[in-house]
Amino acid sequence: MPNSPLFSLDDRVALVTGGARGIGFASAQALKEHGAKVVIIDINVELGQQAAQKLGADFIAADLTKSDQVRQAAGSIVEKHGRIDVALNNAGIAVNVPSEECSDEDWLRVININLNAVFFCCREFGKVMLQQGRGSIINLASMSGVISNTPQPQSAYNASKAGVILLTKSLAGEWAKRGVRVNSISPGYIGTEMTKLGMSQSDWYQRWLEFTPMGRLGEPQEVANVVVFLASDASSYFTGSNLLVDGGYTAW
Ligand code: NAP
Repeated sequence: MPNSPLFSLDDRVALVTGGARGIGFASAQALKEHGAKVVIIDINVELGQQAAQKLGADFIAADLTKSDQVRQAAGSIVEKHGRIDVALNNAGIAVNVPSEECSDEDWLRVININLNAVFFCCREFGKVMLQQGRGSIINLASMSGVISNTPQPQSAYNASKAGVILLTKSLAGEWAKRGVRVNSISPGYIGTEMTKLGMSQSDWYQRWLEFTPMGRLGEPQEVANVVVFLASDASSYFTGSNLLVDGGYTAW
């Protein structure tokens, strides 16, 4: 991919929320390798700073569930770099609890980070892009926004991700004629901190592998490759799309 100018991100300013580790970190690295100036935004200050240092990226500490912190992050990126070309809204959490036992706090925590914060990010980074008349927003949804996972219970997570997919389509329609593309990526099971609990429980892990035609978890890099595509001009006719990267899980 790096040899094709269509995939070049030279001089583009790309932010990655939740870029301290996992899919966010792999994506930040891939964006950087394709020429972008990268800004990592994360609530995890220690890991976030380490990640940024490793990549030669900027780091902004923020809790994205607080819209004033998202607004400030947008302001400081524009102040330093003058623009935002790519916003990868990736930060998210999972909570596995039977729905009849799910507390208000657990439900709201998941919806706040996975859906409300994604809206705040789209709105604040989107405003900058609309002013520029150009930009690519990529939201990390999940195959859990399309199918309900088994065997682990996670209704708040699934509902939040379904919300991200339709939020993405809504914004894509609103902003398409103003130069801003909005797409989502929906991974299947990817080997990160988030999936560690499931991998340690053999009944969960076995089911995940059985239900995945490729018979394995994905690597963060395999999602990052799709991020580069959606960030670049190679995806110029994509908006409102939800790209499933799931080893075939949703094919069965
Ligand atoms: P991860 O390894 O758990 O990393 C998520 C990062 O987001 C962490 O650094 C976390 O900080 C940060 N974060 C959490 N809440 C935040 C907040 N309020 N403000 C700012 N940063 C916050 O996750 P991942 O597995 O790479 O997943 C990344 C995205 O892909 C998520 O949206 C996830 O739902 C989605 N996804 C993952 C999978 C999978 O199998 N891994 C599958 C489908 C979709 P802390 O360390 O403090 O928590």
